[in-house]
Amino acid sequence: MQIVLATRNLKKAKEIREILKGLKVEFLSLKDFPEIKEIEEKGRSFSENATLKARAVVRLTRRISLADDSGLEVDALGGRPGIYSARFARNDRERNRKLLKLLKDVPANKRGATFRCAVGIATPDGKVRVVEGKYRGRIAFKERGGAGFGFDPVFIASRYNKTFAELGPEIKNRISHRSQAFRKAKKILEEML
Ligand code: IMP
Repeated sequence: MQIVLATRNLKKAKEIREILKGLKVEFLSLKDFPEIKEIEEKGRSFSENATLKARAVVRLTRRISLADDSGLEVDALGGRPGIYSARFARNDRERNRKLLKLLKDVPANKRGATFRCAVGIATPDGKVRVVEGKYRGRIAFKERGGAGFGFDPVFIASRYNKTFAELGPEIKNRISHRSQAFRKAKKILEEML
């Protein structure tokens, strides 16, 4: 059985493969389907975007498709960048710089933030299910740690007092928004296989 991970982000795909370890399936990603163009994220929520990406990919590949839509909601910014996280700035480095700059005068007790992840699971029979995960933390005053991707160096996991980038993949993949959502997806896939 083959499952397509509807992402071109290799670091995201690596995390997902790690979380889904143990499933007896072969994982493909959009790198295996270069003919598939960028799928526009036109939805108004993480779950709408995950659904539309999973639907588009199952239609094009005829294989079970898993699509992750994720992002960071920052309290002091009224929940921004949220579903627009990837478009917040040009690349990871600039996104983190911009976030730290916007929060430069925000005190420690007002720097709360939530990572969210929705996963769409679409099957060739036309059905789609969505599961979600979230992780609460706060935004650091400067970047810390070298692991992970995206906002990991500026996101402090509340229970550990360390950024996701300091915690590294083993702990991040046990607790993160993505880990929670994909563990739910794993249960659904186990019932299907
Ligand atoms: P997506 O690929 O449209 O889902 O965009 C997700 C964006 O949210 C990424 O580009 C990152 O900036 C951010 N993001 C989502 N999940 C994580 C994570 O686990 N760590 C750090 N940043 C993340």
